[in-house]
Amino acid sequence: MTARCELTELLADSCAHCLGHTDPAPDPPPPVNTGRWFHAIYPGVCEVCGNRFTPGTPIRLEIPKGWRAACCADGAPS
Ligand SMILES: [Zn+2]
Ligand SMILES: [Zn+2]
Repeated sequence: MTARCELTELLADSCAHCLGHTDPAPDPPPPVNTGRWFHAIYPGVCEVCGNRFTPGTPIRLEIPKGWRAACCADGAPS
């Protein structure tokens, strides 16, 4: 089979697109596991201990769990 791909102009049987791999883009980098500490703008709940935190409390986003607040801070800014 010598047909050429109209998209990549490769031989169809050596074209990843024609062979079904239509997404040649590399995987995006994995998300950063934890965010920076910052002061909460809104009240919320610490996913580590379940306590509520108030605006102004230092919090950090931990993917995929959620917010870690100062009540459970490890290495939080003093
Ligand atoms: Zn193709
Ligand atoms: Zn906590």
